[in-house]
Amino acid sequence: MKEVASQSLQQTIRHLDNAYTAFFRSNSAFPKFKSKKSNRHSYTIPEPKSIRVDFESNKLYLPKFVNTCKNDNRLKCKFHRIFDGEIKQCTISRNADKYYVSILVEENVELPKKPELNRNKSIGIDFGVKTFCTFDNGTKIDSPKYFKQSQNKLAKHQQELETMAKDTTKYKSKKEQISKLHAKIARQRKDFLDKLSHKLTHDSQVETICIEDLSIKKMQEDNYKTTNRIIGDLGWFNFTKLLQYKSDWYGKNFIKIGRFDPSSKTCSVCGNVYHELSIDEREWICKKCNSHHDRDINAAQNIIDFAFTNMEFKKGRDYPIEAQTSLVSG
Ligand SMILES: [Zn+2]
Repeated sequence: MKEVASQSLQQTIRHLDNAYTAFFRSNSAFPKFKSKKSNRHSYTIPEPKSIRVDFESNKLYLPKFVNTCKNDNRLKCKFHRIFDGEIKQCTISRNADKYYVSILVEENVELPKKPELNRNKSIGIDFGVKTFCTFDNGTKIDSPKYFKQSQNKLAKHQQELETMAKDTTKYKSKKEQISKLHAKIARQRKDFLDKLSHKLTHDSQVETICIEDLSIKKMQEDNYKTTNRIIGDLGWFNFTKLLQYKSDWYGKNFIKIGRFDPSSKTCSVCGNVYHELSIDEREWICKKCNSHHDRDINAAQNIIDFAFTNMEFKKGRDYPIEAQTSLVSG
């Protein structure tokens, strides 16, 4: 027990308390013990006074960290950016073979004012399985190639692992290789989502971002069983979280409309609903007005339409908009 700062131990108890509170008050799952065998480990140091950062020499001072052979209490770090503000706490984590320190700071920054809603400077985004996302102007964004390559590699490694005898050196090294690759894929995914959300929130032509509220959990349980794993991998949920806070930081409106089924089935030109649309139909023609639709582009256009028609009677509230399914299908 003496190896760790006392406050860190207390913090762990607080985490447990939070987990139980979440379990009893909301729908969270029952707390699980953390496995020694998992790839990710972390602990928090909630003592702002004993944490010091030296950007010049790239060193970090943490309580109880002493390199005994050099009698040195500094940690060599690579800082990804320099920050101001008051340090609140820091969390040390290990993912596969890399160690990270995340430092929480409090800064008094005023968020930029959000612009008035303007339909012409808005973008609607539809998320898909085949293409990562589609914009209402017809732009389609695929998952990057390097990401897919890593995933193929991972599948190959996992196949090889299954043929190996357990508890051998070869097996262990293969397992290590796999956990490193898992961490790499997670970094690649984060990088892709960060860059895309940065680009969208820095586009001068975009003042309002409209998306559908994705109940991914629901989707995974329901009818998407075969694509279950793929949906988890795509990271839509993380992407909407990134878009949300970046919109606040960079002064963009962010509208999340309630999840509604006919966004793909409604004709964006005349509003006619094509109920028979199947999941494999990528393109369709409206029976009423003869418009030719690309499934995803049409859905993105509907999302933006729906966000704006609902804004009319929910003025002054730009986030979140919870819309009723019946408003669309009716
Ligand atoms: Zn139509």
